Amino acid sequence: MPELPEVETVKRGLAPVMEGSRIRRAELRRPDLRFPFPPAFAEKLEGRRVTSLGRRAKYLLIDLEGGDVVIAHLGMSGSFRVEGADAVEAPGDFHMPRSKDTRHDHVVFHLETPEGERRVVYNDPRRFGFMDLAKREDIAAHAFFRDLGAEPTGNTLDADYIAAKFRGRQTPLKAALLDQKNIAGLGNIYVCEALWRSHLSPERHAGTLVTAAGKPKTELLALTEAIRQVIADAIEAGGSTLRDHIRADGSLGYFQHSFSAYDRAGEPCRTPGCGGTIGRIVQSGRSTFYCADCQK
Ligand SMILES: [Zn+2]
Repeated sequence: MPELPEVETVKRGLAPVMEGSRIRRAELRRPDLRFPFPPAFAEKLEGRRVTSLGRRAKYLLIDLEGGDVVIAHLGMSGSFRVEGADAVEAPGDFHMPRSKDTRHDHVVFHLETPEGERRVVYNDPRRFGFMDLAKREDIAAHAFFRDLGAEPTGNTLDADYIAAKFRGRQTPLKAALLDQKNIAGLGNIYVCEALWRSHLSPERHAGTLVTAAGKPKTELLALTEAIRQVIADAIEAGGSTLRDHIRADGSLGYFQHSFSAYDRAGEPCRTPGCGGTIGRIVQSGRSTFYCADCQK
């Protein structure tokens, strides 16, 4: 499943093509993805200029002139690609490796850009992705967004913010970090990585990182820095799934070598001087990878 850095990378890849361009035609090749398209979706997009591309958690936000916003979610296997008049183009250095099976091309935005006609194609073999339409002024109160916590890329996320969320909580750290009401867009991979980097056990209770007075302990300062850094590193690397191979079924694989804990069960821990082995446990139905020797 694409995580926040992948969606941010898709946004950065599409922005140069889409921003300022006009949607000449929106071609829907089926009535639905995970959910039906909103009523008159194609008609509402046609002729509209894209004013900006944004992201909130794992949602891509395509702002249109007139105040509407297309909300797009990539689900499990969704990807975008850009096609020119003659050839397929990668949007900048960042693009999602795509299913080459055009049967899974479900939405095509035909764009008029300063460089000529372009097609932005949404491909999604498993169809867990979806698109919706909302008014810009309604976005903050929208059901997708109103309960979301701070972005790990924004200035809101600091140790004091997390301390307020974790204070008195007996929830395991893994679950507390995956809770989108605390931090928006943080998924399984980067939670594992951040806990490994900050030497904290995923089973430790979240409240143990906060003093009785509600202040962050030193360990929470380290965790906060690790969260911000793993996300920043992944965005800088162009998103961990982006450079990877496409599996036979067209779904995206993960670029596993870039991770220190995630999916490394049985392999040596990379913490200098540790000598431990990465283990795997299941928490809330999800795999957690961590080193019991150096993560306490
Ligand atoms: Zn270790």
